[in-house]
Amino acid sequence: MKTLVVANWKMNPQTLQEAKQLFNLVKRGAKNIKNAEIVISPSFVFLSNIQYPISNIKLGAQNVFWEQKGAYTGEVSPIMLKDLGCQYVIVGHSERRRYFEETDEIINKKLDAVLSVNLTPIFCIGETQKEREQEKTEDVIKNQIISGLKGISKVKFSKIIIAYEPIWAIGTGRPCDVEEAQKMGLLIRKIISRLYINTFSKNIRLLYGGSVNSKNAAGYIKEAGFQGLLVGGASLKAREFIEIVKKVI
Ligand code: PEP
Repeated sequence: MKTLVVANWKMNPQTLQEAKQLFNLVKRGAKNIKNAEIVISPSFVFLSNIQYPISNIKLGAQNVFWEQKGAYTGEVSPIMLKDLGCQYVIVGHSERRRYFEETDEIINKKLDAVLSVNLTPIFCIGETQKEREQEKTEDVIKNQIISGLKGISKVKFSKIIIAYEPIWAIGTGRPCDVEEAQKMGLLIRKIISRLYINTFSKNIRLLYGGSVNSKNAAGYIKEAGFQGLLVGGASLKAREFIEIVKKVI
């Protein structure tokens, strides 16, 4: 399976013109890259203006609602995202949990809704600095996984991608050590194998996210055993983002 590199542009850039420019630069840089799967997750408002069908780059969304239609002012449904050509959706990003009070229960409903229209969710989990200092990391990760996946069948689960994103590493320039990330990857697989069955835990696609750049990217894939990366800040610089992709193939 190809290494997956997902760009999370968050609420950037500020104009459609800049978004198109950034996308075109990434597209050009990625032209001859065959051994990686690249996903760009722009803001909702740019999704329909990005020329996904003619490039080898897939589209992702940064968030989604848990119903497919109805009176939910301001929300965007999984089916709408699918219609725009999205294949992936980031669910439960720590910024959603923190600023919009998304709970594990909400994230569970979103995962279910995304899976029901055959989109691939990128399910984010991770502990805060405080939880880490209090040695609660294992419990936090376990709870996030168990609550987030509640009621999700084995068949549906096989389509989920899990992103381990320690919150203290996101946007801080303080990435997780490769060794520590490897330990966390093993822990996540162990929790999954208890929830489902061993085969699933081995086959699951696990991403690392948190201050990834072109210097540290390779370690997570080649040493720590992750199958891909979720990249925030560095994905806004086309050249750096393409360098990251090249380092992991
Ligand atoms: C993220 O927000 O998912 C992320 C990983 O951000 P950054 O790469 O900037 O740490």
